Amino acid sequence: MRGREALLTLAAAAALGGADFSGGSALELTRRVVAFGERYPGSPGHRKVQEFIRWEAGKTEGELEEDSFTAATPRGKIRMTNFILCFPGESEARVVISGHYDTKRIEGVRFVGANDGGASTGFLLEMARALAGREHKLTVCLVWFDGEEAFGEWSERDGLYGSRNLAEKWRRQGRLERVRALINVDMIGDRDLGILREGYSVASLLGLIWNTARELGYGRHFLEERGFVEDDHVPFLRLGVTAVDLIDFDYGEGNRYWHTAEDTVDKLDARSFQVVGNVVLKVIEKLENRR
Ligand SMILES: [Zn+2]
Repeated sequence: MRGREALLTLAAAAALGGADFSGGSALELTRRVVAFGERYPGSPGHRKVQEFIRWEAGKTEGELEEDSFTAATPRGKIRMTNFILCFPGESEARVVISGHYDTKRIEGVRFVGANDGGASTGFLLEMARALAGREHKLTVCLVWFDGEEAFGEWSERDGLYGSRNLAEKWRRQGRLERVRALINVDMIGDRDLGILREGYSVASLLGLIWNTARELGYGRHFLEERGFVEDDHVPFLRLGVTAVDLIDFDYGEGNRYWHTAEDTVDKLDARSFQVVGNVVLKVIEKLENRR
């Protein structure tokens, strides 16, 4: 069954030269992830989303690697796992597209994080489908980070657990210098999409992304407004990786849905996923042709 499915997928992809990124499919995948409920590390929903990532990744020919570690959090030691799905290219040089799949644990609130945690998960799952069966010059890796959210007050030591762990691991293994670019996405499902020109991000890569968005007619979603957001790109930036964060940090008026029970699927739109998906795929293509 598995082999037959793989053959059919390959045949379909060969005919199409890789599937297009579907914003509708990304939203549907996000909806399924959000239906698992709260997804903070250690919760039943967290285990379910892990199973779902394994299942969806298994439908592609990509190589899935699980990076498990124990994080010391204000709530004690907690087991976390990053998922890395790579599509090998002609070159070992790689482009990484990442986002987090955990949701913030908020006492007394059933926080399901449709946009914050859900959208990045669904976006990457759809990206896996779109990348499967394509010819790649560069190796393209998708990374679902665990433990982006802080358990207590956000600090150097609380939050970004998964990305801190993976950046350090890749540095130790000598794999970090292979990363040509890292594009992290977060909260990109917002119906009213406006991506911040994030201040820590590497300007040249931001420039490439903003120009590409303009060429595709999506310029109005990529704002000139600047702001600094500590996100999963930061541990990689600190180690010298060319990394950016694509984040819409104005979710509802005055960002009022952020980290509240209001962060639900009805606030999202397939078109926002489509815009970011098309731009990211085009940027990957440009990076590949730049060699
Ligand atoms: Zn958050």
